[in-house]
Amino acid sequence: MANLIDDTIAAISTPIGKSGIGVIRLSGQDARKITESVLSAPHRDLQDHTTTLRSIRCGRSGRILDEIMVTYFQAPRSFTREDVVEIGCHGSPVVLKAVLGLLLESGARMATPGEFTLRAYFRGRIDLVQAEGIRAIIEAKTLFQAQIGRQQASGSLSRRISPVKKALVQLVAMLEAGIDFADDDVPITSDEEIERQLKSISGSLASLEASFSLGRLVSEGLSVAIVGRTNVGKSTLFNSILAQDRSIVSATPGTTRDVVAESGELEGVPVRWMDTAGIRGTADSTEKIGIEKTKETLADADKVLLVLDGSAELTEQDLGLYGEVRNQPFCLVINKIDRPQRLQEARLGKINGPIVRVSALTGEGVDGLKDILVGELEHLPMLEQEGAFVTNLRQQGLIGEALAALAAAASSLRQGLPHEVILLDLHGALRALNGLTGETTVEDILENIFATFCVGK
Ligand code: GDP
Repeated sequence: MANLIDDTIAAISTPIGKSGIGVIRLSGQDARKITESVLSAPHRDLQDHTTTLRSIRCGRSGRILDEIMVTYFQAPRSFTREDVVEIGCHGSPVVLKAVLGLLLESGARMATPGEFTLRAYFRGRIDLVQAEGIRAIIEAKTLFQAQIGRQQASGSLSRRISPVKKALVQLVAMLEAGIDFADDDVPITSDEEIERQLKSISGSLASLEASFSLGRLVSEGLSVAIVGRTNVGKSTLFNSILAQDRSIVSATPGTTRDVVAESGELEGVPVRWMDTAGIRGTADSTEKIGIEKTKETLADADKVLLVLDGSAELTEQDLGLYGEVRNQPFCLVINKIDRPQRLQEARLGKINGPIVRVSALTGEGVDGLKDILVGELEHLPMLEQEGAFVTNLRQQGLIGEALAALAAAASSLRQGLPHEVILLDLHGALRALNGLTGETTVEDILENIFATFCVGK
């Protein structure tokens, strides 16, 4: 690992293609020296946190290759905590490659994917959760996702994990001190106290784990299924809602019996819309597959829009579908309000969900429907300020592991097993939390032991 971060790396940081400018970045102890070696008038030193207009020389011929803007960030005040240089060239792939070639000839090594962020992690500038936040910003498809990524990159989730880990480290330190220094004047922690602390740590972790449902909403989006019998106007509604919002289009073409999915966004949150086949009692085997798919889609959906034709009388099929969806979050959409209304709403009984009247054809009421869906996301602004929730499976898996280990520790405690056994599980929980942020805690434990107890003998 030492070798990995002892040399100086360089890479083109902007996408390869014609553009106004392109940026090459270097990081490592020789970043400044290497850059200066390819500049004309190298005697003018690069100044910390200063951008200067310079020229870059073509190797042997000495001709000017490009006029560039060079910014030098002296360690440790840089992204990687190493010396970093950013070179802004004209955004020509040929020029960028030539400049990079010169830097490599002068002693830099080509960076591997993600290596700048990896160095920032190795140098302790960011933890793993923050690195994931940086990746989330780069991969964001909506501005909202990018904002959440930025909050995580600046440490929002890490700050929420940190006190939980600290409490766990303290508990471990207390138990270890009790064992290691049993003959000294170190007090033994009571089982009640251990249990109380285990409960408190598990409680915090459990709420963090539960935050994954919101995190998933941010990363994967809200899934909305549109259901209704044939001809009620599902496809028309689907198109009407998506008309203005087709920013991220990923259509899955299917037959009329398949589920057609498209992506769009509401208030910056990605939304997956699924237009489903109706659910009908049928003997046709192909149709049965379509119906099964529809049922699966319904089960997975965060929200179901049940579309009814307001200009027709309710059918048995409408009632059957209503029975299917009424036990999950749904919204009743009465379509075709531009025509004389014949739907007998009373037959549906008490409706436990919002009712929206629209004309998918004219667009009337469609905005109101969108507002209702946006209302679903109302809790998000609160999260936007926080950004402290679990956003991916890796994080969720590790928190689950830590919780399982804590549960095992609690069970050992109840059985009256020795503290050594409890410690094994507590260390397991700590390992999982360390995996989350990528930190090691051996020193933390020692520090805690020596700071908390008077063992200077
Ligand atoms: P689906 O089978 O549920 O997907 O229904 P479609 O979207 O294909 O619509 C069936 C028919 O109803 C088409 O002829 C649409 O033009 C018509 N339709 C859909 N929405 C409305 C509406 O709001 N008003 C009127 N008058 N016709 C509509």
